[in-house]
Formats: sequence, C-alpha cells, structure tokens
Amino acid sequence: MIDPFAWTAGWIHETFLIPTLWRFGLMQWEDQSFAWALFAVYGVLQIVLNYAICLPAERFAPLVRWERKDSVWMDVVYTLVARIGVFPLATFFAFYWAQTNINGWLTDHGYVPPTLETLFPALMGMPVLSFLIYAVVLDFADYWRHRFSHTIGWWYGLHALHHAQRQMTFWADDRNHIVDDVITYVWFIGAALLIGVPPLQFPILILLLKLVESFSHANTRISFGWLGERLLVSPQFHRAHHGLKAAGRNSCNYGAVFPWWDMMLRTADFRHDVVETGDERAPEAMATGGWWAQQKAGLLLSWRLLTRRRRRRPAPAEVGVTTRP
Ligand SMILES: [Zn+2]
Ligand SMILES: [Zn+2]
Repeated sequence: MIDPFAWTAGWIHETFLIPTLWRFGLMQWEDQSFAWALFAVYGVLQIVLNYAICLPAERFAPLVRWERKDSVWMDVVYTLVARIGVFPLATFFAFYWAQTNINGWLTDHGYVPPTLETLFPALMGMPVLSFLIYAVVLDFADYWRHRFSHTIGWWYGLHALHHAQRQMTFWADDRNHIVDDVITYVWFIGAALLIGVPPLQFPILILLLKLVESFSHANTRISFGWLGERLLVSPQFHRAHHGLKAAGRNSCNYGAVFPWWDMMLRTADFRHDVVETGDERAPEAMATGGWWAQQKAGLLLSWRLLTRRRRRRPAPAEVGVTTRP
C-alpha cells in the first residue's frame, strides 16, 4: 500500500527540493531534505488534525463570540510558519545535527551520554513506556522554560507577544516571537539530548505535545471535568494563564500538557471564571499589528526590559510586573 505521507513528501522532494539543492550545490543535504519534506507533511497533518478537533469545539461550544476575528488571521500565519517551517527544521535537522555532533564529540572524549534505557535497564524493550516518560520529562523541562520566560524581564518582552492576543483561539498556540521560538527549541533539544531521546522519536513527541497545547488555547466551554483537568491541561486551565491578571511576572498555570508541575510547585489555578485574555500593558502593535510589526514590538519591548535596570528607573508600569490578586 502506498504511504500517502511518504508519497507527498517524495513529490515535494523531487519537484522542488532536489532542483533547488542542485542549483545551490547542496546535494549533500539530499537525504535530510526528504526528511524535512516528510516532517513538513506531518506538520500539515497536524494542522488538519488541530482543525478537525478544535474547530467543532469552538463552533458548537464557544466561550466568547466576536463579530470580527481580525487578529486571528495573523495567528493562522504563525501556525503555518511554525508547523511547516520551524517545526521540521528544529525537530529533525537541528536535533539530528546536535545529536550526531555533540554525542560524537562526547564519545570521542571517552564519555558515553546516558539514555533513559541505560539509566533504567527495566525500560529496555518497553518502547511505549519510554516514549511516555520522554513526554513527561520534556513537559517538565518546558514548565521551567515557560516560567523563566515570565520571570526574566527581557524574555517576557518576547513572550508578551503570545499573551497579547485578545481573541484567543486554538490558532494562538504558535503565536510566538521568532527568537522565543528559537530559545524554546534549543531548550527542548537540550533536554531531549540529556535524556537520550532517539532522533526519530523527537519530532513525534513534539507533534503530540503540540496537539494538546493547541486544544488548550481553544475558545470553548468544553470542560475536562474535575479529574480530567488535573490529568491534562484543559482550555480553562490555560485560559487562566492567558487572563489579563496573569500576564507578566506573577502568573499561574505554566504547564503546557500536564498540570502536575503547577500542582506540585503551587502555581496551579483551577478557576473557571477567566474569559478575557490579553496583556493590557503590551504595545497595541503586538495585539493587532501585522507579523513584522509584532516581531519588532517584541524586540523593542525585550530591549526596554533588558535595559530597564541599567537605567535604574523604577518601572512599576512596565510589562511583566503585574501581580495576581
Ligand atoms: Zn505564558
Ligand atoms: Zn498559551
């Protein structure tokens, strides 16, 4: 039977990628470029899956209704760039490159990096359990990345772009500053290298984690129930993180997939009354501007917050210093 994903990737590879690589003398990347095409196809599949799951939830059980959804369109652009471009590049190329080079260098110097299976031999021959443990560990690493991105001023200047959206839908998941995206993937890749995630499992792990993340941004009243929302991050749980009062330094609900880290570290907030989202102190360009305007506003805000201390100005009105009641 023909694998439709491999077939489509093969078509993209032969029609566009090989001629381009040939033209620029980059044929040594031929095999990797097929893998990129394959993961870009998976990226499209991910968008289709997101659409199929999240759209009915938003259409039939919406939380907020807007007459116009002008700023949602920019989030669609973010999603396409992130899932078809950044995701395959980061999860396949960058991870593959880092794994080969860093592990090679370490092995050359007499140090064999540990993997989950070598640390816990009981996991040998239990790939599904190892896969789940990788997902849990990566999500824990992501909890800290997200928490730091709120507490470190210049980092929040970039992350504020994610929080500036007042019309939050499932498309908002990928609404991030490009520098923040790079940091996120470096962080993920570092964590995955530390625990020895096999190269081909990494993109699949990110794919699944992102699916839960997208749904958690959905504009829907659908509830996971008392137990469900303590097992997996629900739209209500993540909406509380996007609430007006949660923008900035003292936020809550940093977990992307599992709410356990917030429960353990006392940053969880399970209230269901948060409806409005956004960051009132973020520049307007971040909420309603075009792609370039949003990226520029993120860099400027980040710079302002970085140099704020040096200027020794008390800045209570700056972004990133709001407090939750
Ligand atoms: Zn955040
Ligand atoms: Zn979010």
